[in-house]
Amino acid sequence: MRNAPTILHLDMDAFFAQAEQASKPSLRGKAVVVGGLGPRGVVATASYEARVFGVHSAMPMAQARRRAPHAAYLVPRFAFYRSISEQVMGLLRALSPLVEPLSLDEAFVDLDAGRAAWDSDSARLAGIRLRDDIRAVTGLTGSVGLASCKMLAKIASEQAKPDGLVLIEPGTERALLGPLPVRTLPGVGPATGDHLRRAGITTVDEIAEAGEDELVRLLGKAHGHALYAMALARDDRPVVAEREAKSVSVEDTYDVDIHDRVRVELEVQRLAGRCVRRLRGSGLSGRTIVLKVRRYDFSTLTRSETLRGPTDDPGVVREAAARLLDSVDTTGGVRLLGVGVSGLADFTQEDLFAQAAEELADGPEEEHAEEPAGDVPVPVERQWRPGHDVRHAELGHGWVQGSGLGRVTVRFETPESEPGRVRTFRTDDPGLEPAEPLPLVSSKPHGAGGAPAGEPAAEASREVSGEAVGEAIGAAEDEVSGSSGRGGDISVVEFGNSP
Ligand SMILES: [Mg+2]
Repeated sequence: MRNAPTILHLDMDAFFAQAEQASKPSLRGKAVVVGGLGPRGVVATASYEARVFGVHSAMPMAQARRRAPHAAYLVPRFAFYRSISEQVMGLLRALSPLVEPLSLDEAFVDLDAGRAAWDSDSARLAGIRLRDDIRAVTGLTGSVGLASCKMLAKIASEQAKPDGLVLIEPGTERALLGPLPVRTLPGVGPATGDHLRRAGITTVDEIAEAGEDELVRLLGKAHGHALYAMALARDDRPVVAEREAKSVSVEDTYDVDIHDRVRVELEVQRLAGRCVRRLRGSGLSGRTIVLKVRRYDFSTLTRSETLRGPTDDPGVVREAAARLLDSVDTTGGVRLLGVGVSGLADFTQEDLFAQAAEELADGPEEEHAEEPAGDVPVPVERQWRPGHDVRHAELGHGWVQGSGLGRVTVRFETPESEPGRVRTFRTDDPGLEPAEPLPLVSSKPHGAGGAPAGEPAAEASREVSGEAVGEAIGAAEDEVSGSSGRGGDISVVEFGNSP
């Protein structure tokens, strides 16, 4: 661990909700919930005004509606969020070559590697400037944590939220960490947290007091060692630039081709176990399981499966690897096998949800997958999704506030206008058409952003199966377009007085 707080963690504040509020003046200062709007939808992000009512990410949408009935409920606009994310990541890359994005709105930056900071004062200054730049370029706020290691930088940004900066002075790490709940540490998900609680361990100090042997006994060697070190604020994990951070994988090449299918299966199980040990040793979890098979003729296949949520459970990874192997013919013999996990995270459910939804939203063919056809025939050509932008021939730019019963309600406003008026149209009004989101900031004083993201994950075939999110989005559309069966109210998005 270094002796200067030059590792920076940036986390945008309630990113999706804040982007929607910036985009829609009438929602500023109000409770906004972004997520799947159907009966099985879940919350992706809640604005701070909505959090006051106890709404939080990953909560079932029905529950959120009970807690905050007057909030505005919107479906996510991932292409819009991604364009903002590219601006933010561009600013981070201007600080250092070592930028490790964890999601659309969150990243570690090694300021020292970019010579952007070398001690507490210069680090604080870099953090302040970064927050100013993000505000100027995107119009949005992000919180910054600065510390001598990744774990503490992330804890610091959490404490800085919203719209703040926290720097943890070297030497104060353990005192700060001790009283915090065990779930604060990377690698402690719900399951590990429960496990520790049953052993009477609820704070980081109690992990340190339990001792390394006890932790290894409770959690296994790799995980126990790693967690004990974290509890003592020992975290040497480097900030790893995007491409390298994409996966943890292990592979073996065999001197003699393996022909026996049972032996191939056993090898895959063994590799899956090894891969999980490395994953846990790094305090990570991941969503996508990848199997690599090189056959006797040097043809190489990769198969992948994406889970609903991140895992570091050896059983889950083994099962997924076995399923993937089922689809591969190995009769000619195998000379190399590998198992990897990608889509890594430090257990940030909100952002993982976002990524899953993003993948689904990206593939138009995926959007309606799995959703049973409704009883009511739904005209597919005119779907007005709540929150999405539209343009009216005479009234200009606006966004869909709700639709149903053959009507669509539009609020006419832009990021730089006053809160606008609402008008209702027939869904087939010829003057109304879908529109692209308008930029949140009209001029870009810094000209940054738009730096191309790293190479996409190379060979892995992608088979996204985030059903929960897919259903949420599909159901949201059903609700909007198919609500003709329900009585009266045509507005899907509701407004009330903000708290
Ligand atoms: Mg965030």
